[in-house]
Amino acid sequence: MKFAADRTVGRLAQWLRLMGYDTVNSGSLSPESAIPFANENRILLTRDTRLSQKLKSLKIICLISNDPKDQVREVVKALRLQPDEKYFFTRCKLCNTILTRVTLEEIVNQIPDHVSKKYNRFSKCHTCKKVYWQGTHYERIQKTLHTLVDKERR
Ligand SMILES: [Zn+2]
Repeated sequence: MKFAADRTVGRLAQWLRLMGYDTVNSGSLSPESAIPFANENRILLTRDTRLSQKLKSLKIICLISNDPKDQVREVVKALRLQPDEKYFFTRCKLCNTILTRVTLEEIVNQIPDHVSKKYNRFSKCHTCKKVYWQGTHYERIQKTLHTLVDKERR
């Protein structure tokens, strides 16, 4: 399942990437600019109801909520998604690139000292160079992902 998120749902795009879904930013969509994304079999995501009317011949979900987490719930429900935990945190939330596992030695100069002392699992985005580690932030996001997914499965 692949997505293209327009300007109105940028935070939603980040959550979908954290769950492992291939999600690109489409910028502002128009009937013309939407075509390439549709051709890649991407489901378009927007909050713009007028736009979604214009694009209704394409696969598009018009989100109702203003809250990114509720928007995730809407997508999960609309498509009956069954997000797989093994894909969580496999993709850069900023640029959608698949992350690569790296050793501490490879990234030790790019992270704060307290992080390198405390954690031992790291991954890196080779496009935007962001380094990820399994810290408290990671645990909080993981918990949130579980609540988002489980609520809709029941
Ligand atoms: Zn990145």
